[in-house]
Amino acid sequence: MSTQNSIIVPCLTCGARNRVPQARTNDTPRCGKCKTPLSLNPPDHPVIVSDALFQKEVMQSSLPVLVDCWAPWCGPCRAVGPVMDALAKKYQGRVKVAKLNLDDNPATGSRYSITSVPTLLLVKNGKLVNTLVGALPQAQIEAAIHQML
Ligand SMILES: [Zn+2]
Repeated sequence: MSTQNSIIVPCLTCGARNRVPQARTNDTPRCGKCKTPLSLNPPDHPVIVSDALFQKEVMQSSLPVLVDCWAPWCGPCRAVGPVMDALAKKYQGRVKVAKLNLDDNPATGSRYSITSVPTLLLVKNGKLVNTLVGALPQAQIEAAIHQML
C-alpha cells in the first residue's frame, strides 16, 4: 500500500508520530497515544526565535530543532539562509528549523559559547546534541540532522 496519501504528524504534547491519511485531515484527528488534537500545519519555513522564546521554542520543542544562529553583518550567514528555507520545507513536521539573530539575542550566544557565525545548534529533547560552525554545504547539515533523528 502506498504511503503517499498520508502524512506524519508529530504530537506536540507527547511527541508520538501519528500517520494521518490525507483524506482525514479535515476531521481534527487526535494523537493515538495521548488523544491531544493534532496540529496539522507544522511550519514549512524557519521560525524566528529570541532569547525570550528559546526555552519554549527550542528546549521544550517536541520536534528536534535546528537553530541557525546568525548575524546581520555576517556574509557567510547569507549563504546559509536559503539552505535553512530548503531544510524547513524538506523536514517539515520532522525537524523544527529556527533562526536566531545573535546581535539581538546575546544571551543565547553566550550560553552556548558561540564565538563565530553562523553556528548551527542541533537540539533534541532539550539537549544540545551537535554544534556546526561555519557555512556548511546543505548535504553536511543534512548528515547532522540524520544523526539526530
Ligand atoms: Zn500525543
